[in-house]
Amino acid sequence: MSGLSLEGITKHFGSVAAVDDVNLSVPHGTFVCLLGPSGCGKTTLLRMIAGLEDPSAGRLLLDGEDITGVATHRRDFGMVFQSLALFPHLNVGDNIAYALRIRGLPKAERRARVEELLALVHLPGYAERPVGKLSGGQRQRVAIARALAVSPRLFLLDEPLSALDAKLREAMQVELRQLQQQLGITTIVVTHDQREAMTMADLVVVMSEGRIRQAAPPVEIYRRPADSFVADFIGSTNLLEVTRQDGRAAVAGVALPGLALPEGQASARLSIRPEDVHLAAPGEGALTGRVTFLRDLGGTVETFVEVAGTTLTVVSPPRERPGVAPGDEVGVVLPPEACVVLKQ
Ligand code: ATP
Repeated sequence: MSGLSLEGITKHFGSVAAVDDVNLSVPHGTFVCLLGPSGCGKTTLLRMIAGLEDPSAGRLLLDGEDITGVATHRRDFGMVFQSLALFPHLNVGDNIAYALRIRGLPKAERRARVEELLALVHLPGYAERPVGKLSGGQRQRVAIARALAVSPRLFLLDEPLSALDAKLREAMQVELRQLQQQLGITTIVVTHDQREAMTMADLVVVMSEGRIRQAAPPVEIYRRPADSFVADFIGSTNLLEVTRQDGRAAVAGVALPGLALPEGQASARLSIRPEDVHLAAPGEGALTGRVTFLRDLGGTVETFVEVAGTTLTVVSPPRERPGVAPGDEVGVVLPPEACVVLKQ
């Protein structure tokens, strides 16, 4: 396969399995986000891909070639890691040209390449500036240009935007994605921000406790989460306990139309996104609940409804504001096509 393959990649630190039997295929040109809570093993996995950490077990293949034992500097990867800060004594241009100089590229060609890269990261004419005079966003753009200088086979970034304020960060997410699409370079980014991952990635890899819980395109991760962890970690969701009743899924003894449980399973958890739940007149939905709280956030209205001992969140656009108040009894509609029965 053209691209990167991880086969049984594992890393033990003493008795801790920081990364535990990770298998993943990344086709050439894919933008991957490794996503998960603190300590789930994302950075360790990225460092093993970079060659900064040796796996305890497993193999790394790039375009079919086993690179597990290849030293970092021989992998031809571009890296933007917190530990690889810009050289403070060099100006912007010399930072970007650093690797080109080591490779012996003539000065005129280095200059031309630096200008090309500066244009790519929207900093034309910045070559002579000292790095100490740059803003946080400009520094990250220079770090990205430096990593791309030698046309790397893989582009690896560890939380590249985490130091930026929220607005700049959102703008840079779009920029980074556009840049990657322009270059068609296989890119792997570590982030703990699910919105960032959804914005940039072709493939979101959700990790927890050293393992991959799901690897899929963003919309699939959101619409078809593999398990409760993924459903809860990506966006917000409603989780309901369901049991089998005459072959159908039921909540507190009330069968849900059009929803079955997998063969042989007596109970399961069901996930439904807040924007997919609809309110109706009492008796009209499959379930009946009571409104406990209303929150008008301007762009959306959130209604909290207690159903069979669980509080469901219902999100509606302002023009579909439900005409209800706390204490009201309401019908609750769970469209079967929006319900996901999760793996145990
Ligand atoms: P964060 O988002 O907080 O950076 P992470 O998902 O990147 O977290 P890692 O940094 O990969 O997680 O850490 C995974 C696990 O491995 C953690 O339990 C961590 O304490 C442990 N770990 C990481 N590096 C080392 C090390 N050099 N020595 C011992 N334990 C380590």
